Amino acid sequence: MKAISACLLGLACRYDGTPLPAEKLLSPAAGDCWVPVCPEQLGGLPTPRTPAEIEAGTGEDVLAGRARVVSLEGGDVTAAFLRGAHQTLALCRCLGIREVVLKSRSPSCGVGRIYRAGALVAGNGVTTALLQREGIDVRVYPD
Ligand code: SF4
Repeated sequence: MKAISACLLGLACRYDGTPLPAEKLLSPAAGDCWVPVCPEQLGGLPTPRTPAEIEAGTGEDVLAGRARVVSLEGGDVTAAFLRGAHQTLALCRCLGIREVVLKSRSPSCGVGRIYRAGALVAGNGVTTALLQREGIDVRVYPD
C-alpha cells in the first residue's frame, strides 16, 4: 500500500478547486492499492483556497519554526500546513505505509523544488519534509 497526493489521481483538491488535466495524472498499475491524501485539506484549509508559499525557507525550516507559510493574500497558514503534514504522517503510520508519491512543486507536497515568488527554488514542501524526517520514502510526480 502506498499514499499519493490526491490531486495526482484527479481529485479536485487543488487550491483552485479544479482537477489536474488528464495528461498530468498518475496512472497507477491495476491492482496497486493507493491511499489518496491532500495535506492542505487535512490541515483544515478550504477548497478552493488562496494559494500559499513557504516564505524565505523550506519545509524543513517550517518544521523547525524558522519559516512561515503565507497565502498570496498575506495570511499566515503555517499552522494548517503543519497540521496537514502531521495528519498525513498519522495516516501513514496507521496504515503501515512506508512509501508515498507526492505532487511536484507544491508548498506541501513538493520534493526537491518548490515555488517561491513565482520561481522554482530548491526545497521540500512541509509534508515532504516531515515524512522524510520520519523515514518514509517520498517520491515525486511528475519530475
Ligand atoms: S499538491 Fe498536495 S496539498 Fe496540493 S492539492 Fe495536491 S495533494 Fe493537496
